[in-house]
Amino acid sequence: MEFIEPQPTSKAPAEWFTGDVWWDVIMAGDEPSRMRANWVRFAPCARTDWHSHAMGQTLHIVAGIALIGTRDGTVLKAHAGQTVYTPPGEEHWHGAAPDRFMTHLAMWESPGPDAGPETTWGDKVTDETYRAAHGS
Ligand code: MN
Repeated sequence: MEFIEPQPTSKAPAEWFTGDVWWDVIMAGDEPSRMRANWVRFAPCARTDWHSHAMGQTLHIVAGIALIGTRDGTVLKAHAGQTVYTPPGEEHWHGAAPDRFMTHLAMWESPGPDAGPETTWGDKVTDETYRAAHGS
């Protein structure tokens, strides 16, 4: 048994996010573990770009209200204490509501060495898409 040495908080890159987002890597397992867990904090209006995860992703909302959208127009408003799963390959985005901070624990798995990327990134979530999501 051991403590995992905490890593410094990282600013999420503008290449993949809109607005201010910061994450802490809680766990990134070494093979054969493929476990990944990040504590992610979004400022109001901040969100990810469109993306998908090779092995799917589980989001547990810790604070605030998360907006989580998929390409078919479905938007889930997930409150603190709720958990949302996106299956492997399903394109989605996640972010904060316009009027409050949101924190979620993101949990996913690496597909393994030489098995391609954990996350595949796409286009930005436009203000139009974001506004529609919040209004829905
Ligand atoms: Mn995701």
